[in-house]
Amino acid sequence: MSKRLIPFVLLCLFHLISSGQALDNAAILARKQVPVLCYHQIRDWRPSDKKIDKDYIIPPATFKTHMKMLADSGYHTVLPDQLYDYLTKGTALPTKPIMLTFDDTDGDQYNVARTELLKHGFKGVYFIVFNNINKNKYYMTRPQLRQLSDEGNVIACHTLTHANFKKLKGDGWNREIVVPTQKLEKLTGKPVKYFAYPYGLWNSANLPELHKLGFLAAFQLTEPRDPNDPIMTIRRLIDCGYWDTATFSYNINHDFGRIGKK
Ligand SMILES: [Zn+2]
Repeated sequence: MSKRLIPFVLLCLFHLISSGQALDNAAILARKQVPVLCYHQIRDWRPSDKKIDKDYIIPPATFKTHMKMLADSGYHTVLPDQLYDYLTKGTALPTKPIMLTFDDTDGDQYNVARTELLKHGFKGVYFIVFNNINKNKYYMTRPQLRQLSDEGNVIACHTLTHANFKKLKGDGWNREIVVPTQKLEKLTGKPVKYFAYPYGLWNSANLPELHKLGFLAAFQLTEPRDPNDPIMTIRRLIDCGYWDTATFSYNINHDFGRIGKK
């Protein structure tokens, strides 16, 4: 190689690495998926809750039996840095790894989930809608988020207002993602490197922007992963309040048991 070309090649390599395109997507897709569970509200159902609402609400008693089942079955919770290293480099994980994620800043996630997770030595990931912090008595406060972070849980970004990721453009990136992420970093004193799509909605065209903004990985719901960007389309399963522990266990194994595209 001519000496003149070396700086150019180095620059190209830098761009490849910094844009995330150097990731080996085939290797990521070939690794066994780690189950990632998703929770929203953790409270008893009310007569006014519609069937579709109930899919996003797990009663505390059910949540407790599900956490106990995971602990009794030997599951170990992992955090996004561990999952990222496993997916991108093949770094080993504890036996029976599982990730617990909580969306939208609901207060039950502090009042109910935190207690249960502590009981079993579990850690969780909290995807924060920034405008929901301190919104009213149903949402978490700034000191509660700081405490969750200090206790070793991960605080991550779920936009400012629960915006549809597919529709973000122009100033929207800054307003909905960059600014709230910086504020979360200030609140926790730690970098915020992970993102979850509001409503689970994402599109391939907007994924490069997440790399550019410095996110390492992002979490959706149950669509097949993007074959060209699997690290930004990690799948999650909503743990449903209708499931007994046997159904819960079956769904964890069934949904994440496959290797490959899904
Ligand atoms: Zn959400």
